[in-house]
Amino acid sequence: MPQKIAAKRTILVVLAHPDDESFGMGGTLALYASRGVDVHLICATRGEAGMVDASFLKKHKTIAKLREAELACAAKALGLKSVSYLGFRDSGMTGSKDNKNAQSLFRAPVGDVAAKIVAHMRRLRPQVVLTFDEVGGYHHPDHIAIHNATVQAFHAAGDGSQFPHAGNPFQPERLYYNALNRRRLRWLVRMMRLAGKDPSRVGRNKDIDLTALARDQDTPPHVSINYRSVEKRKHQADACHASQLDGRFSRFSLLELYWRLTGRRDTFTRAFPPVPDQYRSTDLFA
Ligand SMILES: [Zn+2]
Repeated sequence: MPQKIAAKRTILVVLAHPDDESFGMGGTLALYASRGVDVHLICATRGEAGMVDASFLKKHKTIAKLREAELACAAKALGLKSVSYLGFRDSGMTGSKDNKNAQSLFRAPVGDVAAKIVAHMRRLRPQVVLTFDEVGGYHHPDHIAIHNATVQAFHAAGDGSQFPHAGNPFQPERLYYNALNRRRLRWLVRMMRLAGKDPSRVGRNKDIDLTALARDQDTPPHVSINYRSVEKRKHQADACHASQLDGRFSRFSLLELYWRLTGRRDTFTRAFPPVPDQYRSTDLFA
């Protein structure tokens, strides 16, 4: 009698830049990988609009090559099964020169981006898909673009009449958005002001406005993942993105502070199948 083999548990993460996977939800990815789940990452760009210190470019010809190497390092630390690039160009923040580049993710028609994601969904057959929330976490145009394309791809992957050249139809079961803890963020904004820091100009390029993020609507924290048991792996993955760490987080220890506030916990909003706001779980597969 042939034994019935349970379907391999698979998570597909769809993000925009090398470092999104570690800084954002690295703890969760490392936790599921440590439990034997296949965790695959799609990264839409190579983060070529990110600013890096010249010293980082001694070993790599371009920023794209550097950031690709940093992502390979982080993927190993987190235990990811694969990393696939969609090959779009980093769009930079709104109003920047990169934002006007015709090759940028921001300029790409959402259907073109979705087609590529559908092909990966049909090839990898994940039960769970993770991406940014509607405002892309911190309003980055690439984060919003990849959110929109992932939502379209999720609802099209199981329909053979859509994107017929992207493989055999397959419908993933669950779609989640990484939910920022905005209550904690509001507290952080208050703390920064008390410390005489400007919360409207943070980050490596001073282009992240925490006060705007704190004004965004709360998204329900349907699923809460405690990743304390694999915290070390997340730290290792973060450290891989050395070119993006200086100034962005370390000088003000923003990431460290946010971590302390969130208690080594990632939260996700379940977009599909829909659940009431009060729904709470500690497992993305539940
Ligand atoms: Zn990003």
